[in-house]
Amino acid sequence: MKPVLFDFSDAQLVEFLTQMGQPKFRAKQVREWLNRGAPNFQSMKNLPEMLRRDLDRVAQTLPVRVIKKLESSDGQTTKFLLELGDCEQIECVLMRTSYGNSVCVSSQAGCAMGCKFCASTLLGLKRNLTVNEIYSQILVAQWELRNDKFADRPIRPNGDANNDDVSHIVIMGTGEPLQNTQNVIGFIERANHDMGIGWRKITVSTCGIVPGIRDLTQWGRPINLAISLHAPTDDLRSRIMPINNKYKIREVLDAAFDFSAAHNRQLMIEYILLAVRNENGTTELLNCTPEYAEKLSELLRGKNCMVNLIPWNAVDERDFVSPSGNAVHRFQDILIKNGIHTRIRRERGNDIGSACGQLRLNNAKVK
Ligand code: SAH
Repeated sequence: MKPVLFDFSDAQLVEFLTQMGQPKFRAKQVREWLNRGAPNFQSMKNLPEMLRRDLDRVAQTLPVRVIKKLESSDGQTTKFLLELGDCEQIECVLMRTSYGNSVCVSSQAGCAMGCKFCASTLLGLKRNLTVNEIYSQILVAQWELRNDKFADRPIRPNGDANNDDVSHIVIMGTGEPLQNTQNVIGFIERANHDMGIGWRKITVSTCGIVPGIRDLTQWGRPINLAISLHAPTDDLRSRIMPINNKYKIREVLDAAFDFSAAHNRQLMIEYILLAVRNENGTTELLNCTPEYAEKLSELLRGKNCMVNLIPWNAVDERDFVSPSGNAVHRFQDILIKNGIHTRIRRERGNDIGSACGQLRLNNAKVK
């Protein structure tokens, strides 16, 4: 495997380049390009052509390499399939929105959580990602924004067409961030420090690892927390999310509301809408019946939270179906009637398999 220069310290970078017969100042030039997310040395325009070629032969810039890039038909979402040094694959997604450019990053290669509706977990957990591997995902997005060839992309509703910075980060890609808490914290600290991304523009999403949530509270940064709840009773939640056998809903919500209260933040509750198909071909709501809407309301009444209702993105290997629009609105209406803040998440990049782990899974299938 070629050495990854992004992982080098400044001293190591100087040594590497002087060994190639280069003056010291080259290290500074290369570092600047690395920090901008240059995918190869050829793009480092102020280096001599010979050196660029030599470097491309003996080294790699980032610890991730883009092996596939998909654009949604509206041009607003770009999904990257990335390969790591050990050939594991991860995904990240760049979403251009009215409020800025948001990047969804992965925290692990694969996932051990076993949620029944999710593609990321189908091949199990491979390993945790390093801080640099997580950080490189936002560099990939940043590079894409700065080198955007789609000049005819629609101007943003807020007219901010020139904004080519990553402004928001959601740690909602493949993996469970709170099984890799220290590296996720290291990544967030770095994104805040080096890229200037505010704490409040960063969201960690968890299936509910209670000790990890407590660690985040201890750490004390006012980021946003999202809990993947998906069911309001332990009975149902344990059926679709095995982690619920370990940490029950009450414990998870207590820890999560402690976190958000400590920072005076609104807790985000994620709730995928799931239905199942019966043998006779009819569709039956699973977690989004009116009864469950009432139960969810009981759980959250009076709390500082927002329920994000998420249409399920179909995964071939999974036996769920999406409920009808009517059922979704009925469910939402009950929450609203009970005073629960709620919104239906706009589907982004649906045409490019943007739901967790789909691209990685599909690529593994054809391999
Ligand atoms: N492990 C973390 C973060 C990764 S999953 C967590 O559980 O929160 C990010 C979000 O996508 C979670 O809410 C997850 O439940 C949801 N998700 C997974 N598969 C999905 C699918 N097929 N369609 C829609 N949302 C999905």
